[in-house]
Amino acid sequence: INPSEYIKEHIRTVPNWPQEGVMFRDITPLLQNPKVFRVLIDMFVHRYMDQKIDVIAGLDARGFIIGSVLAYELNLGFVPIRKKGKLPFHTVSEEYELEYGSATVELHADACKKGERVVLIDDLIATGGTMMAGKKLLERLGAIVVEGAVIVDLPELGGSKLIKESGLPLFTVCNFD
Ligand code: 5GP
Repeated sequence: INPSEYIKEHIRTVPNWPQEGVMFRDITPLLQNPKVFRVLIDMFVHRYMDQKIDVIAGLDARGFIIGSVLAYELNLGFVPIRKKGKLPFHTVSEEYELEYGSATVELHADACKKGERVVLIDDLIATGGTMMAGKKLLERLGAIVVEGAVIVDLPELGGSKLIKESGLPLFTVCNFD
C-alpha cells in the first residue's frame, strides 16, 4: 500500500457533522496512530527539505498540529494564521466569504519578512477560501508562498482548482469525492 492510501485509510468520515448533509473528514484517527502520523509528516519533510524554505505557516487550527511538527523537523520557525481576535500583537487581516456570511483570518505583522519562502499548510481544502486568505496575508508581508499543502482535498468543492488557478502550487496527500 502506498503512503497516500495508508494515510487516507486512517481518516474517518463523520456523516451529518457539524450540520445535516455534511460528510466531515476527521483526521484525529491519523494523529492518534504514531506510525501513520510519522508517515504523513515524513511525506511533507521529504517534499520540502531541499526547497530552501524559510518559514512554515499553519492555518487555524488543524494546520497548527501538522505545521508545527513539520517546522520543527525542518529546523524552521512556525507562524500561525489565526481566526479573528486571537493574535495579541499588530496584525494584518483578510476577510473571505463563506456559504453563509464571512470569516476573517489574521497574521502577525512581523510573522515573516519580505522575500522569505513560505509553505502554507492546513489539514483540508474545501472551497479554498481559507487558504486563499492565508496566501494573501503572507503576500501582504512580502513573503513568497512557495506551495500550499494539505492532507485532504475535496475536489468537488472546487477549492484546489481555485488555488492552482491563482498561481499557487498545491500539494495534496489524498482526496475524497
Ligand atoms: P475552505 O475554506 O477550503 O472551504 O475550508 C477549509 C477549512 O475548513 C480548513 O481550515 C479545514 O480545517 C476546515 N474544514 C472544512 N471541512 C472540513 C472537513 O470535512 N474536515 C476537516 N478536517 N476540516 C474541514
